[in-house]
Amino acid sequence: MKKRDHAAQDTVRAIYRTLASAWGPQHWWPAETPFEVIVGAILTQNTSWTNVEKAIANLRTADALGVEKVRALPLLELERLIRPSGYFRQKAARLKQFVAYVDERYAGSVASMLTTPLLPLRTELLALKGIGPETADSILLYAGHHPIFVVDAYTRRVLERHEAIGVNAKYEEIRVLVESALHDVTPAAGGELASNRPTVHTPSAMSMATRGTQAQVFNEVHGLFVQLGKHYCSKSSPKCEVCPLGHLLPLGAAQHKNRVNGTLHRTSRVRKTQRASA
Ligand code: SF4
Repeated sequence: MKKRDHAAQDTVRAIYRTLASAWGPQHWWPAETPFEVIVGAILTQNTSWTNVEKAIANLRTADALGVEKVRALPLLELERLIRPSGYFRQKAARLKQFVAYVDERYAGSVASMLTTPLLPLRTELLALKGIGPETADSILLYAGHHPIFVVDAYTRRVLERHEAIGVNAKYEEIRVLVESALHDVTPAAGGELASNRPTVHTPSAMSMATRGTQAQVFNEVHGLFVQLGKHYCSKSSPKCEVCPLGHLLPLGAAQHKNRVNGTLHRTSRVRKTQRASA
């Protein structure tokens, strides 16, 4: 392994330890059943979790959070129920397609699907239209408790800013980096948590389910990256000076923020120039 790879792994471990000890368990995924996790993973594509919650609340009220219920619902009714999640026609079709896959391959049993070994199941999920790596890995980790890390835009942004990955890093490269860095790490022991930590999800049947050590660590670290991205590491205005990871920045918090701002200003100047000369 190259020296740079070791440094990147050290960065990932330092980020996990710092956040886990400051913020504690994040209680992902907020759902009562594996199927509800799967529905949420599909609905959350290109929208905020708040909108997903509204769509799931509609499905719950209509008693439609099950394979047989989604199978029986007319497509137009399913579209109406999930409308708050946006792209509702496309997402309704994806839910129907998912149920058809479970019916055909696993006789309608999500539990049976989730007992399939990690890699073959990942291949099957990725073969479904509209299921990319982030959605597939969310299903595998949060519904099936398989030990796989979910990479999202927040993860990419934080690791890039902390120089653990390059700007063009691929999904698989980031996933393998985080998994290799944390493969032998145990969940952080409970201690005194930061008083200003972000609010976490209410514990749910799925967040409290028993799972292996690695799956538990990957579960937590994804939740921690989400909190970090939402509350500190925004795209245009990172709060490095008050972020729990500020001391881990290679350049220091203040200098890093100036660099982000400088890059953003340069990018916007280039765009304006390009628009003007177009
Ligand atoms: S806000 Fe700054 S210190 Fe915090 S994760 Fe982002 S880049 Fe790092």
